[in-house]
Amino acid sequence: MGQSSQKMKPSSFTLVCLLVLLVQSLQGQPAYKNPDVPLEQRITDLIGRMTLEEKILQLNQHWYGENLNPNNHGEKTDPITPEIGSLIFLSEEPELLTFRNDIQRRAMEKTRLGIPILFGFDVIHGMRTIYPIPLAQACAWNPALVSQAAGMAARETRLAGINWVFSPMTDIARDPRWGRVAEGFGEDPYAASAFCVATVRGYQGTNLSNPCSVAACLKHFVGYGMSEGGRDYHASDISAQSLWETYLPPFEAGVHAGAATLMSAFNDISGVPATANHYLLTEVLKQRWGHDGFVVSDWNAIAQLITQGVAKDRKEAALKSFRAGVEMDMVDRAYSDYLKELVDEGKVNIELINESVARVLRVKFRLGLFDRPYTPIVAESDGRLQPADKHLAAKLAEESMVLLKNEKGILPLSAKVSTLAVIGPLAKDQTNLLGCWSGNGKEQDVESIFDGLASEFGTRLKLPYVRGCDFDGDDESGFDAAVATARQADAVLVCLGEKKSWSGENASRSTIALPAIQEKLVARLRQAGKPIILVLSNGRPLELQRLEPMANAIVEIWQPGIAGGTPLAGILSGRVNPSGRLAITFPLTTGQIPTYYNMRASARPWGGNYQDMPTEPLYWFGHGLSYTTFTYGNAALSADKITRDQKLTVQVPVTNTGKMKGMETVFWYISDPVFSISRPVKELKYFEKKEINPGETVVFNFEIEPMRDLGYPDASGKRLLEPGSFYVRVGNQKLAFELVENFRTASVQEAGIRTHSNKD
Ligand code: BGC
Repeated sequence: MGQSSQKMKPSSFTLVCLLVLLVQSLQGQPAYKNPDVPLEQRITDLIGRMTLEEKILQLNQHWYGENLNPNNHGEKTDPITPEIGSLIFLSEEPELLTFRNDIQRRAMEKTRLGIPILFGFDVIHGMRTIYPIPLAQACAWNPALVSQAAGMAARETRLAGINWVFSPMTDIARDPRWGRVAEGFGEDPYAASAFCVATVRGYQGTNLSNPCSVAACLKHFVGYGMSEGGRDYHASDISAQSLWETYLPPFEAGVHAGAATLMSAFNDISGVPATANHYLLTEVLKQRWGHDGFVVSDWNAIAQLITQGVAKDRKEAALKSFRAGVEMDMVDRAYSDYLKELVDEGKVNIELINESVARVLRVKFRLGLFDRPYTPIVAESDGRLQPADKHLAAKLAEESMVLLKNEKGILPLSAKVSTLAVIGPLAKDQTNLLGCWSGNGKEQDVESIFDGLASEFGTRLKLPYVRGCDFDGDDESGFDAAVATARQADAVLVCLGEKKSWSGENASRSTIALPAIQEKLVARLRQAGKPIILVLSNGRPLELQRLEPMANAIVEIWQPGIAGGTPLAGILSGRVNPSGRLAITFPLTTGQIPTYYNMRASARPWGGNYQDMPTEPLYWFGHGLSYTTFTYGNAALSADKITRDQKLTVQVPVTNTGKMKGMETVFWYISDPVFSISRPVKELKYFEKKEINPGETVVFNFEIEPMRDLGYPDASGKRLLEPGSFYVRVGNQKLAFELVENFRTASVQEAGIRTHSNKD
């Protein structure tokens, strides 16, 4: 991490510290309270003063508030003690800031040592300003924007007196029945790593102690996205090989980017629950990756070790998770109830307690909480939901929207369209556009699709509106009015999708198709004989096999947060050229799950197809249309042979051969057809998005570093590099090159992780 203690020679360092401690104690101020004392000394000094009970309280998080997730209603407020390590809040209102300052004052002034409380909240895609859901953010392929949004969210979060957010969720998800697919960055480990790093940098800034930084929490470590059958909380059967090639890389990238904390996952991984997994929590995370912050369990995940069948009671659950490497108990009170007993019985070693407390304190010190524990009260209208926040939310929404289909260039709307019928349950909806986990977002802040259209088109376009039907149910009574309105129009905009409660936690669905009533509405609208433009707002990929043939154009707007209406209207009018590309594959049918682009090759690529439906998904990862055309020139390699110490550059010129300015994302893939471990057919290694003017040619570059880009982990996480032929793929080109050297499989130190810098 970038904020480790200052480096000095041990002897002079120790001397200085002793001196500081001496002077401090002579002055009566303990060293841990002095910001000029080096971080690790402050921690050691404080731990030296703490009783076992005080230490154990630092390892607990209690909750405050009520769980408002309709899928997961919870009990009200937990009783609170100011010696507690952390408090998690379940909802957010401005009055809570006063409460936080008050309890912090009790922690600082009325407890023996004055240790500040860490306040946590689920900020997932914004605090007050709600940005598009993370899955949508990934579809913008713009890490700089993602970082800025996280930075803005951190600022609003700090204004509320919260200093710890439970995101980014960096679980790879390849089963869209799982509702939490909305919260992550899609199916690809490299893309998820890039957006995870961008988010961590946005939250934490260059230094956690900046007044606008919050501590990030990478979750859910690890394998939660693989829950069997897409059913939330279920076990994940993940091989060691898949862990290292697919599920761990985004976490590793986030740790190397300095993420202060991680959250252990609910699921068990091939028989060992993530929350009791010593190998992952200690050997991999702490010993191999050198993480020096802490791990918090997910909500009740410690007690759930009993349900998962590895602990007979809460005491054994506490023992297993603590020994495995979970430093903080989220709301279970298993640590507060049993850690002391476990120490007294000699089952938990005091060194481990001290090390765990040090990890928690380290994050608190780094956040500057000991030195600035309170949050100044700023008027609600000041500092939150500012014009710059709204502008950024709209920009991110605009870039995340994906034009999935555009038959005969029906979009942008031609000047001949003077009446656009606006139909569907989402057309005037505000609540559901927010998406799951919408922080302190308010539905009244959300611009509806209809309002966005009205402000974009003004009087230029008549916009008759009929709701037509609800999100689900079987009430078709609105169909006739919808068809009648469609008949009077030149084109029909049908706004369909999911409610926000249909994705997120505990929101699995057995089919990813929209409810039949929505499909029937479109079928009836076809009777009007007018072009149909489908707008979809949802938290997961959808099964569109029946809807797609009925629509002339489809725009996927995801759940865009507060500012989706105007960006969508801009796409419809042609003011905005769509540039989003899918970060997750849309299967044709639910039965095709799982389908993702970087599968391994089949043993019989000519066989193994479904007998009753196509095997190809509807839209692959990377799909997305533009109003202009981008023509890829010949890609060129700087060499056709390299050794393991050499780099190789590939370039491709891309020309905007259409008439409209647009942004193109170039995806660079590597294929390694022969390796000792069979590898995916292609692996994304880099991407870049650039704006190109009509007639302009822009050259995109990809620099291949052999170990990082051609290497591959084995089941123990060792990175292997093997000589032989490789391909680099860009657009529809495939260029061969050789990695030459007289070595067979060589295990070498782990490769650096490529991450997009904030300026990308
Ligand atoms: C979720 C986490 C969340 C935590 C705290 C859990 O149920 O799985 O993602 O951060 O609750 O609200």
